[in-house]
Amino acid sequence: MILPKANHLTPEQVREITEIVESSGCRIQPIVGAVRTIYAIVGDERDELMISRLEGLPYVERIDRIQSPFKLMDVRSDLSTHQIVIGGVILGKAPLFIAGQCTIDPKNPDYFYETAQAVKEAGAQVLRGGVWKPRTNPYAFQGDDKSLEILMEASRRTGLPVDTEVMDENQLKLALDAGVPMLQVGARNALNYSLLRQIGAAVAGRKTIVLLKRSMHMGTLHEFISAAEYIANFGNPNVILCPRGTAPALDGYRNHPDESIVPLLKDRTWAPVVVDPSHSVGKASYVPACALAAMAYGADGLCVEAHVQPSRGIGDDPKQAVTPDVLAETIRMAREIWALRRRAN
Ligand code: PEP
Ligand code: MN
Repeated sequence: MILPKANHLTPEQVREITEIVESSGCRIQPIVGAVRTIYAIVGDERDELMISRLEGLPYVERIDRIQSPFKLMDVRSDLSTHQIVIGGVILGKAPLFIAGQCTIDPKNPDYFYETAQAVKEAGAQVLRGGVWKPRTNPYAFQGDDKSLEILMEASRRTGLPVDTEVMDENQLKLALDAGVPMLQVGARNALNYSLLRQIGAAVAGRKTIVLLKRSMHMGTLHEFISAAEYIANFGNPNVILCPRGTAPALDGYRNHPDESIVPLLKDRTWAPVVVDPSHSVGKASYVPACALAAMAYGADGLCVEAHVQPSRGIGDDPKQAVTPDVLAETIRMAREIWALRRRAN
């Protein structure tokens, strides 16, 4: 990681450092912050000659070498002060609540418009809605491009920024062209390195935020944080980690609830952690407890499936969406826990 003396380097200076790092088989990735741009050396940065040549440049303040497989997302990285902002919330400074339907029903858009308004009134700052869905059963409803218009219309009506999952390059393009500010990488794709790279490249230079779910098949935390690094190393470090339960399921729950990993993640990465209790437990009646446990473990927020009439929903909504009343009460209590933790620290 190259820290310049000024807030950023001139094009000639970038050319000079690029030449030096490329001769050692690395490349330079600028990461543009609010005030200062830092320059990540992507590749094996142990080449002593490269480091001493860079250190000798008059416009370089210092070179930070982090021996970590995820040097950008590492808690010791110079990016650790990076702020991610959405829906008026600076992650870490106030809790973030993302809520909305698992799946938008293109035949019944009014449910989504009503849900959008209701989650806003319940205290959510970001509206979620599945346009395209990763379904285990190939004959189940897979989503519909038309739902993207419904998602954006709900955003316009409520003023809430929106979050939706993309699973391929075409969906990625459609979502970005429509102006979706938060993209979800779902559990099934959190280990799909080609997609992570495509998303990283597509969001570079934009303010887009990526909500990266934990794969149900992820073992180590290292795997989870490295998946975030895949995205960030293209230049946009706006990645939020989202534990959502892993396999094998705990008898009675949809997955094995994993909110307890929050403090472990916090020891290793600066990335905000927003827990999804809905997919973790998979049943509406268990969601509030899981949500509050996540906050007690230090989560920066929650991503909760909610629907004005869950039984009329599609996808996961009939089983795991909470009603707006339950959402409002969960958010109220979650805020209290967040404030208690803040006072204790
Ligand atoms: C979802 O958010 O509706 C979803 C499918 O999530 P996950 O990838 O965590 O299963
Ligand atoms: Mn879902």
